[in-house]
Amino acid sequence: MNKTVVMVVEDDLPIRNLIVTTLKTHDYNFLTANSGKNAVMQASSYNPDIILLDLGLPDIDGIDVIKQIRTWSNTPIIVISARSEDSDKIEALDCGADDYLTKPFSVEELLARLRVTQRRLSFMQSQISASDSVFVNGKLKVDYAAGCAYLDGGELHLTPTEFKLLCIMCQNIGKVLTHKFIADKLWGNSWENNIGSLRVFVTTLRKKLESLPDSPQYIQTHIGVGYRMMKFE
Ligand code: CA
Repeated sequence: MNKTVVMVVEDDLPIRNLIVTTLKTHDYNFLTANSGKNAVMQASSYNPDIILLDLGLPDIDGIDVIKQIRTWSNTPIIVISARSEDSDKIEALDCGADDYLTKPFSVEELLARLRVTQRRLSFMQSQISASDSVFVNGKLKVDYAAGCAYLDGGELHLTPTEFKLLCIMCQNIGKVLTHKFIADKLWGNSWENNIGSLRVFVTTLRKKLESLPDSPQYIQTHIGVGYRMMKFE
């Protein structure tokens, strides 16, 4: 048996039941926690594969749960937020969450997020053994050491900033990256003025990378939040 173990951290019983029922019917194993402290304790005791974390918990804030778990674990965390404000999601992502779901969400959305995370997990596990510096995702190949990227065998002619941007996205494949995270990596501090520039570089990179820039396959936009490199089988 090699089932993925998902820890569900949610104090709202009907939502927790909905998630657990979905997990059961789709052959996942699960643990549940109804508070932040309980979540941190169970995460350290049972080391789940994926954590679904509600941000509004009765004891400690979900953001603090992420901070605590991230001190010793890289387990993917998908945050669930009832608050529609982007700032909560962005703070959670900047503290180390991988992805987010906004309440109310459908069973299909939940399953889609879990699949994306599982692909990211298996990619991370394969990277541990592969020590080479070449990244392959679908038709995209990036040779980090040589500083070259290829699409379907043809070399992409990227500017240094576009290449750096592509590398940041590839190195964090499957994870939603905030504008702040990407801009910090690209330009260091004083990123506030650079969101506009980032958008421009994403647009020019997409023109070279995506066969259909209007319906991109590789770089997914999260409006008001950031971008994610999608993982292909
Ligand atoms: Ca809650």
